[in-house]
Amino acid sequence: MGKGRQSAPTGRCPLCTELKTLCESHLLARAFLKRMPDAVTLTTDAASKTSRQVTDYVLCQKCDQRLAKYGEEYVISQCADLRGNRLRFPLLQRAVQRLPPLDSRSFGLFEGRVMGVPVEMLGHFALGMIWRSAIRAWPVPIRPYCTVKLEIGPWEERLRRYLLGVDPFPADVCVWAMLAADIDSQRSCNFPAPSFNGQNVFGLSALGISFKVWLGDVPPAIGEYCCVNSSEGRIYISNRAHEQAKYDASLSQSRAAARAAMSKS
Ligand SMILES: [Zn+2]
Repeated sequence: MGKGRQSAPTGRCPLCTELKTLCESHLLARAFLKRMPDAVTLTTDAASKTSRQVTDYVLCQKCDQRLAKYGEEYVISQCADLRGNRLRFPLLQRAVQRLPPLDSRSFGLFEGRVMGVPVEMLGHFALGMIWRSAIRAWPVPIRPYCTVKLEIGPWEERLRRYLLGVDPFPADVCVWAMLAADIDSQRSCNFPAPSFNGQNVFGLSALGISFKVWLGDVPPAIGEYCCVNSSEGRIYISNRAHEQAKYDASLSQSRAAARAAMSKS
């Protein structure tokens, strides 16, 4: 009594919109964070101070499990794991068997769907992260401790219906899935952030698997590389030259903005 954990609250689940018992929810599953030893080391002090803030009661259990089952668990099983001083990155390792070695400036492209990769799960994960980042700001164990809430207007409802299984994957959405061959990308995660490429364009990454997402108004030259809407289920492999650098720059800007906001408070 008194010092125990608070009991799970009841509230309206934002995914199914039903009044339910809510469960502890995370923007980024703990499994990802466990694989980031550097990040944990860097923020040990901060994390211990803010440990109460890293989870929140947001989704009902059924919806939380739905997001896990249709995307998150697959990405966790396939992303980079550098623990034990050896690289385990199943999706990349599977892809490079089909491709010639990358030089320092090139991208590789492989046909995920043709190879039996469940590319819908990559799309589901990326759109799930965008939607979760739009419904609220999330507490996270890494500075600046709270994500920036994304503004996606009517897409919030459209993505909700897709994630709930009511609507199919939107034809006017593009998700680029990129596998990073460099160690810096393989050991870091970036929460969804607006991209410099335009309005309703977002980037995110999880331990070597990066995504760029266009919500509507997708230029055809971009849309043909969507991992879900392209018939081949196209997936990039990058060793972080060119486009990847631009993508990182946009995330850096978001981080700088977040730091500036923190220093004001
Ligand atoms: Zn629900």
